[in-house]
Amino acid sequence: MVIVDGSVGEGGGQILRTSLALSLCLGIPFKITNIRARRKKPGLRRQHLVCVNAAAQIGKAKIKGAELGHQELTFIPAAITPGDYHFDIGTAGSTTLVLQTILPALIIAKGPSTLILEGGTHNPFAPPFDFIQQAFIPIINSMGPKINARLERPGYYPKGGGRFNVTIQPADQLRTFHINKRGEINECRAKAFVAGLPRHIAERELGVIEQKLGWNKECLQIIEQPADMGPGNIVCIEIKSQHITEIFTGFGKKGVMAEDVAKIAVNKAIRYLEAGVPVGKYLADQLLLPLALAGGGSYTTLKPSLHTKTNSDVIKLFLDINININQTSNDVWSISASR
Ligand code: ATP
Repeated sequence: MVIVDGSVGEGGGQILRTSLALSLCLGIPFKITNIRARRKKPGLRRQHLVCVNAAAQIGKAKIKGAELGHQELTFIPAAITPGDYHFDIGTAGSTTLVLQTILPALIIAKGPSTLILEGGTHNPFAPPFDFIQQAFIPIINSMGPKINARLERPGYYPKGGGRFNVTIQPADQLRTFHINKRGEINECRAKAFVAGLPRHIAERELGVIEQKLGWNKECLQIIEQPADMGPGNIVCIEIKSQHITEIFTGFGKKGVMAEDVAKIAVNKAIRYLEAGVPVGKYLADQLLLPLALAGGGSYTTLKPSLHTKTNSDVIKLFLDINININQTSNDVWSISASR
C-alpha cells in the first residue's frame, strides 16, 4: 500500500485526485493522511468526496474514511469498470475536477464509457469546460484514446447546475508525446460569456483584450446566455497554434470590475506569448500524469507551479519513473519523463 502525505508541497486537493487516478490506473491501494492540510478548511469537502466516490464506483474500490472533514482516507481498488456513469455534484463543485480524477482510468479501460457530469463547469480554481475540451482533450486524444466532450449547459460558480457529457473510447496502449514547439499561431480568439448579466460587462472585457493584445474585432465574440443559466461571466482567450491550443480564463466575480477580470486572462496570455512555449502553466500540471502513464515523453512550458512539482512527487510514489524539470532559459522550462 502506498502511503501519501497530503500536507506535502502544495498540500491541497490535487494530491488526493492524483493519488485516486493513479491508484485506479495501476490497481495499487493507498492511504492518504493530512488531506488538504494546507487549506483554510482542511479535510475532505463535498467536491473531494464526489471525486472519491466516483473513483470508488469506477474502480469497484473499498474505501475507509470518506466523510466530510476527514483528513485520512484508505482506497483499495479492484478493477477498472468501464460503463455509463452519471455523477451529480449537487452544488457548484467542479465537474471537471471529477473528470480529471476518473478519466485516466477510463482511457485505459477494457471498453468504452459514457459520462454525464452535473455541477459547476466554469469554476475559479478549476479547469473550465472550454479548457478541457479545447486544450486538454486533444492532447490526450493524440495518445490514442477517442474522447469527445459536449457541454449541455454551463454551471457558473456559485449556482452550479451545469451539465456536460463525455464519450470515451479507450486505447490499447497510450502513446507518448513530445510537445516542445508551439509552431505557427493559426488563430487567436477571445470570447466573453455573460449569463443573466448585462452585455456591457462582456463589451468592457473585450475592450481590454482589444487594447492590450491588439487583436481586431473579428477575433472578439460576445456570447449572451439565458438568465436561468446565470448569473455568470467568464472571459476566455484561445490561442490555436500548429501543435497545441491554449486557453486562458478570467472568472467574473461580484465586486470585481469587468476590466480586472479581463486583465487576469490577458496577463496570462501575454506571458505565454512572450515566453514562446507551447504548454501553459495549468496544462503543464495536468499533462504530467498522462505522460507518466505513457512511460515517458516531454514538453516545454513556463516556470512550473508548486502543483506541477507536487504532482511529480505523488506520481513517483506510485510509478517507477524519472521526472526531470529543468530551466532552459528565463521563463522556459523543460519537463520530461522516462523509465
Ligand atoms: P483544494 O485543495 O481547494 O481542492 P486544489 O489543490 O484541489 O484545491 P487547485 O489548486 O485549485 O485545486 O487546482 C485544481 C486544478 O485546476 C489544477 O489541476 C489546475 O491546473 C486546474 N486549474 C485551476 N485554474 C485553472 C484555469 N484557469 N485553467 C485551467 N486549469 C486550471
